[in-house]
Amino acid sequence: MKCPKCKTTDLKKPDYNSPWFCEACGGMWLINNDNSCFPNTVTATMNEHLSEDSHDKKTGICPSGHGLMIRAKVDIDEPFYLERCTACGGIWFDKGEWQRIGENNLAQNLNDIWSLSWQRAQGKAKNRESFLKTNQALLGEHIFQSIMALTEKLKDHPEKERAIALLQQEIL
Ligand SMILES: [Zn+2]
Ligand SMILES: [Zn+2]
Repeated sequence: MKCPKCKTTDLKKPDYNSPWFCEACGGMWLINNDNSCFPNTVTATMNEHLSEDSHDKKTGICPSGHGLMIRAKVDIDEPFYLERCTACGGIWFDKGEWQRIGENNLAQNLNDIWSLSWQRAQGKAKNRESFLKTNQALLGEHIFQSIMALTEKLKDHPEKERAIALLQQEIL
């Protein structure tokens, strides 16, 4: 099994009850949510420091060969992302992430974190989609598309509030 982040490094299992590790980046691969080995049997030094940000931002491929994993945000003080393979349920922790899970007493509720974060994200996307659809139907395609185009242009404009005020004043 290759490390999903380093790609060429083989994952190693120090002993039978241990999760798989990447010696190069300190990442950890937990299969079957076997958190009985979590986090005590693992030497703390291996995961002492947080991984480089770049590793947390990249989405990896399941080490067991199931393709791209799906990220879930762990919404704590300094949020980070866990990755899970939907096919085998394996969870990838970048260096230091499992320790933070442990420190925040989340180890026993890994599935919950994951499904909550996932559901929130899904719910948001769904709400937005149906909100847009309703407006599209009520306003008509032409106006809807013009507004969306304008929205896109104004999103990062420093004077966007002025633009909204102008629009409001001219219309009402
Ligand atoms: Zn690695
Ligand atoms: Zn998998």
